[in-house]
Amino acid sequence: MTITTDTRPLDVLADFPAIPEGWAYLDTAATAQKPQPVLDAIAKAYGETYATVHRGVYQRSADMTLAYEAARKRVADFIGAGSSDEIVFVRGATEGINLVAQCWAGTQLGEGDRILLSTLEHHSNIVPWQMLAEHIGAGIDVVPLTEDGRIDLDAMAEMLTPRHKLVALAHVSNVLGSVLDARRAADLAHGVGAKILLDGCQAVPRMTVDVAALDCDFYVFSGHKLYGPTGIGVLWARPDLLEAMPPYQGGGSMIDKVSFKRTTYAPPPGRFEAGTPHIVGALGLHAAIDYVADIGLDRIHAHESALVARAREALSQINSLCVYGPEDSAGIVSFSMHGVHPHDIGTILDESRVAIRAGHHCAQPLMEALGIEATARASFGVYNSAADVDALATGIERVTRIFG
Ligand code: PMP
Repeated sequence: MTITTDTRPLDVLADFPAIPEGWAYLDTAATAQKPQPVLDAIAKAYGETYATVHRGVYQRSADMTLAYEAARKRVADFIGAGSSDEIVFVRGATEGINLVAQCWAGTQLGEGDRILLSTLEHHSNIVPWQMLAEHIGAGIDVVPLTEDGRIDLDAMAEMLTPRHKLVALAHVSNVLGSVLDARRAADLAHGVGAKILLDGCQAVPRMTVDVAALDCDFYVFSGHKLYGPTGIGVLWARPDLLEAMPPYQGGGSMIDKVSFKRTTYAPPPGRFEAGTPHIVGALGLHAAIDYVADIGLDRIHAHESALVARAREALSQINSLCVYGPEDSAGIVSFSMHGVHPHDIGTILDESRVAIRAGHHCAQPLMEALGIEATARASFGVYNSAADVDALATGIERVTRIFG
């Protein structure tokens, strides 16, 4: 991967009304700020065109149904899916992973089967598998990391056996920013007959994702990290897998016919979307995808890589700092300061109007592997510039002065 050093701003800051001048928002990995077109889409949907979907016989509802399904088509095109029917709207990545754990793994895996995860996974890509494994008597193995914080695919190749039925890995680490060679991981998984799920939460906002080229089986992400609303996310799955999966929840919309004798279910994706969906969330996500696509994911990736390079360079000059993750990490830099708790770093930076995240980032096993309890994390988005990185570096110098 090439590291670019062009830190000129993408000139989109003015699109983000919730970012006041002089505030360095460096917590996009937790959730992204929203651009005006997304706010407009939400306001229009609730304020002008609102109605339910799929059931109404009146024009307004038919139009809203078209808009909701157009959002699904936009997602499909955005990630290279074969058809909109492969896109299931969920609440977020967490729900997408739980859905796969219960409906696919819960019916396809049995006692003695094994699931392969990695040390750097987010809790939402660990706990659902533990709950499932406990329920069905399956086992979990954990791929270690390389020295520089990547999932060690050579180690994974050694670990995989025909007992492994599923591999579930982060496409980009939310703590280290390390980017997985997802295609190689998919090839390795398929080599032993396992399926692979990619957690794309941190990848989709900062690089072009094409599920066909990655050759994965399941892909999940959350809308709110992609500049869209909270409460909407995406599960993509191969159509044959979705077809074979039983429903996740029962209720309205997911059925074909209901009687007390026997109920039959709708085909995917409706089968997995019980109840009135997050209609406006889907429309907001559509606007968010249009927004990032307009800027261009390759440009966003290059821009964030340049900011990461600048941040790593600045932070590595400060003696008391330890910077984690590989040089070419995507949009995310974690660091710690000898003798200072990351929460104190975050609080002092806040006084300088720099917003970072401090904690275990829902990745406690990774913290354990790094031998620490928490890190400070700066993560970038389209609105950040070199000035934000410089504000971070100046703020960190202040922290070092305060703590002597
Ligand atoms: N995976 C990764 C890599 C994440 O960064 C996050 C959010 N921090 C999640 C999963 C969970 O996403 P959500 O809380 O939106 O479901």
